[in-house]
Amino acid sequence: MIEDESPADSAALPTQELVAQSILSRFPGAALARHEKERDAIFEISFEEKLLLRLDGRGARYFFPSRRKRTVKWEKITVVGLPRVIDYILRDLAEANYEVISTTNTQILKRPIHVSRHMGCPECKEGGGIKILVRGETLAAENSEIYTTITPDTDVVGAEIKCTLCGWIGIRSLLLRKMRRSRKAINHEQR
Ligand SMILES: [Zn+2]
Repeated sequence: MIEDESPADSAALPTQELVAQSILSRFPGAALARHEKERDAIFEISFEEKLLLRLDGRGARYFFPSRRKRTVKWEKITVVGLPRVIDYILRDLAEANYEVISTTNTQILKRPIHVSRHMGCPECKEGGGIKILVRGETLAAENSEIYTTITPDTDVVGAEIKCTLCGWIGIRSLLLRKMRRSRKAINHEQR
């Protein structure tokens, strides 16, 4: 029996293509470019027009700051397996503050921006409603505490956070700090 229209067999893809596509599917907003160089297919992953990863037949090279390393060799796949190698790269991207989704579920590995619940909105002065903007239609329940969606065509002019109480959008540095007095400050007053 011959199946002409069978789905692409993932095992037939070069490793770098498989890894590149897996990363791309877990990295919203990232772009993938393919080049040929001396019969080797090279894949480049960029975000906001900044090159982050170059993957070739030997491995992946990082173009983003990573305290761990600068390259990942595909040889590692034979030791730990493909999913873990992909996860390593995703974690390194997350550590560099890129917004990526883990390989096993929809949970984002690291918050791209730290927003304390004690920080307040500069518009309504309330705390607790500040969430990180993420482009998309829907959000997994486990992410909705930290993130809020905006449609892909919304122009946010560099804004990264939104107050879900009043609708204000802006950047973290505009937030009002210390909405509540710290325990240390209260103890100090009681003395
Ligand atoms: Zn507000």
